[in-house]
Order: sequence, then C-alpha cells, then structure tokens
Amino acid sequence: MKNEHGHNDHRRLPPWMKRTVRETRAVTDLKKRLRQRHLHTVCESAGCPNLTECFQKPTATFMILGNVCTRNCRFCGVAKGAPERLNPREAAEIGEAVLALGLRHAVITSVTRDDLADGGAAQFAETVRAIRAASPGTTIETLIPDFNGSVQSLAAVLASGVDILNHNVETVPALYSLVRPEADFERSLDVLSASKRIDPGIITKSGIMVGLGETEEQVLDLFHRLAKAACDALTIGQYLAPNRSSYPVQEYVPPERFDFYRETAEKAGISHVYAGPYVRSSYNAESLMAAIEEGRYA
Ligand code: SF4
Repeated sequence: MKNEHGHNDHRRLPPWMKRTVRETRAVTDLKKRLRQRHLHTVCESAGCPNLTECFQKPTATFMILGNVCTRNCRFCGVAKGAPERLNPREAAEIGEAVLALGLRHAVITSVTRDDLADGGAAQFAETVRAIRAASPGTTIETLIPDFNGSVQSLAAVLASGVDILNHNVETVPALYSLVRPEADFERSLDVLSASKRIDPGIITKSGIMVGLGETEEQVLDLFHRLAKAACDALTIGQYLAPNRSSYPVQEYVPPERFDFYRETAEKAGISHVYAGPYVRSSYNAESLMAAIEEGRYA
C-alpha cells in the first residue's frame, strides 16, 4: 500500500497481516540462554514474526559465516560489503548451543560468501557434524547459498549427514534481474536437482516470496519447474520490505491465494507445501521431519 509519497506504507498492512506477538516465559528463557552464550539467531536479527511459535518448539535458525554478504539482493536486509573473517570456533559453539537449548530442529543458514573458494561449504559441513555429535536427537537443516554452482561444495555439505537440504529460489525467473541480479535461476534450480543426483535419499526444500510483482502464471510455472527438480518441500510467504531502500512490496497477497498456491504446488508434485502470509523458510521446519518419520512422505 502506497502513502502520499508513493512509498510503501508499512503501517497500512492489510487486516490479514496484522498480528500481535506475545512473548512467553519459554521464549524469554531461551533468549536469556542464547545471550549467556553470546549467540544470535536469524530469528531475532530478522525480527521474524514466527519467533514465539518456533522458540517454543524449540527450533531455531543460526547464521554462520558472518553478517556481511558479498551479494546485493534488493529484498534482503542483510549488510552488504567486505565479508568478515571466519570464526574457527563457530561450529563447536553452535553444537554446544543446540544441546544447551534442547532444540528439536536446528537450521543453519548463511550469507553468500563468493569470496571463499568453497563458498563456505566446509564451515556448513563442520557445523552439521558438531551439532550431530553434541545433540544426536536434533534434526538438522541447512539453508545454503548457491555456492556459485560448485557441485563439489554441495557434495561436501551433503556428505555431512544433514537431514534437509534447503536452497531458496526466492522468486520467479522473470524477476531475477530486478531483485536478485547476482543470482541465476537455472543455477539455483540445479542446486536442488544436483542434491538428488548426489544423494537420492536427501530431502530437498526451497522457498519463495510472493508480492514482488510476479504473475500467477509465472508462479504456477515455477511449481512445475521445482517439481521436475524433485523438490520435496516448499515454503511460500508474503514479501515484506526490510527497510525503505529495499525493493517495494508490489502486492499483499490475500490468504485464499496462498491456499490456491499450496493446493496447486502439491498437485504439481511437491509433497510438502507450507503457504501463508507469515510462512518463512524455516517455519514449521521440524514438522516436515516429523511427517517423514511418520511415513507421511510420498
Ligand atoms: S545472497 Fe542471501 S544474504 Fe546475500 S543479499 Fe542475497 S538474500 Fe541476502
């Protein structure tokens, strides 16, 4: 919704986007324990609207490889520029934190590090192994960048024993040059299909935002492309501009269209689809694993 200056007016969210988030005792406790360990989650730094729900499960998302990205996606609020030095203790610290926090499901994500030869794949693999060693009962998901198409880097992450390999295609190919100029749709799609070639038993997952100006036809075509890449799970959420200089929200997609997208994506052959205004990449992440464990997985 535009204000008188033609800028997006976040205050005028549509009714279905309005939400009151109450912090529970469990969430306050978990935050306190995170601070005691000098650890930060993406959930907090991104101000994720689902934090209370996720922290109660508990599940959480950790960002590795620093807070500065080498790319410049227009929809993203992460700092861009000269990336930070790697923290050699990061994997061990996250493993200890997952155990201390009693997480049922842990998601590991990162900025894109085009400055590193392997794109940071070794740090992802080391972090998965550290979590597995510290907390064997926790299921692990890696939300990875495209590693510039390196199959070797992808294989290194898959060899770590991760449960879910997640890579967001973010939007329809037609909008890449506008909102994700350094990325490549075919390269991103190949991260998902190559994962199945390398490890046929891996669960693959992707995510998109809607409300960036895509057409319904483009979204439906994307579902078929993802299904053809044997993508098992998909999240579909409303794009919200992280700040005023970000790419403006083009549309607030109504809930009934999310229901239509979920049904259509499942019909296209994607087994698990989570769609809704506040659905995010790691939202309900642990329920996918539960569905798999209970055999509700085609
Ligand atoms: S690559 Fe990822 S972290 Fe970097 S700007 Fe794009 S969305 Fe943000």
